[in-house]
Amino acid sequence: MTEIYPPATPEWAERMAQAQLDTHVLVNGHAYPRLAYGPDSPGLNLRARCYGCYVLIGQRHVIGCMHERCAICGEQAYGCPCLTDSEVVTAQ
Ligand SMILES: [Zn+2]
Ligand SMILES: [Zn+2]
Repeated sequence: MTEIYPPATPEWAERMAQAQLDTHVLVNGHAYPRLAYGPDSPGLNLRARCYGCYVLIGQRHVIGCMHERCAICGEQAYGCPCLTDSEVVTAQ
């Protein structure tokens, strides 16, 4: 299987940097810390970088990455019902 990485463009680097500031998701008035790539991704065959969004181990995924885990239930965040009415909280 071929690994497809997002293009290493300055624009993508910016999105990766932005994702580090998107620290929490807000659901029903409660802020949950977003799970980083790595320790919180059980069962994932860990590589140095997420093969969905290219962040390093310990960094938060770019919003919408298929490999991000849900901050509430730990399942796949993308499409998780917990996050249907969520808002991303960005650090100031
Ligand atoms: Zn990712
Ligand atoms: Zn969930």
